[in-house]
Amino acid sequence: VQKEEGLVIPDDWPGYNLELFNYPEHYRGDIESVLIPHGVIMNRIECLARDILEEIGHHTLMVLCVLKGGYKFCSDLVDSIKSQSRSTNRQLTTRVEFIRLKSYLNDRSTEDLHIIGPEDLSIFKGKNVLIVEAIVDTGKTMKALLQHVKMFQPKAVKVAGLLVKRIPKGSETLPDYVGFVIPNRFVVGYALDYNEYFRDLNHICVISETGKQKYKV
Ligand code: 5GP
Repeated sequence: VQKEEGLVIPDDWPGYNLELFNYPEHYRGDIESVLIPHGVIMNRIECLARDILEEIGHHTLMVLCVLKGGYKFCSDLVDSIKSQSRSTNRQLTTRVEFIRLKSYLNDRSTEDLHIIGPEDLSIFKGKNVLIVEAIVDTGKTMKALLQHVKMFQPKAVKVAGLLVKRIPKGSETLPDYVGFVIPNRFVVGYALDYNEYFRDLNHICVISETGKQKYKV
């Protein structure tokens, strides 16, 4: 069976008007449109959690959360995996490790990529590992992480990406679990930032020109 590639948001999707949603007042004027409202994100995560549980949720699941952008997705995904595992009477232990990578300045990807995080991930040996990333753009981060994790000889490694950008010459390897396929625009919210701003906005949004100028470094 061909796996679903995720919910596809087309390039000409105008998004929703932010004024029709509840959001932190301090971002008034900084957002062009709401691409994915929080409730839709949460429902899609439940579906990903169900698939993950079905396919790799046996005994122990090691989760590698990619900070900082992935913290909300990871937390909501693991919560959903755990609650669905309880309601289906499975014996599943989850353990979450954190890793940080830095490659972005303003809204541009830079060449150098640094892994900051636990040096030793030997607890992954012989286990199912799920890498949890908020957004896959060029796929460089995902590739680097897969390489890194495989050094510790896990039984299997899968990747969950909440968002995948449709970019020309996109990465050849896609995440195993994809939430949404989105247009090639810079998005913020739901822990995704622009120079550390907007992580506290719970919808996934497109930033406005005003917003870009206001929070530029
Ligand atoms: P990649 O290595 O796939 O090119 O980039 C992945 C990383 O770039 C993500 O983990 C994220 O930190 C950052 N990134 C890529 N696109 C966006 C975006 O539209 N918004 C935000 N906030 N970060 C992005």
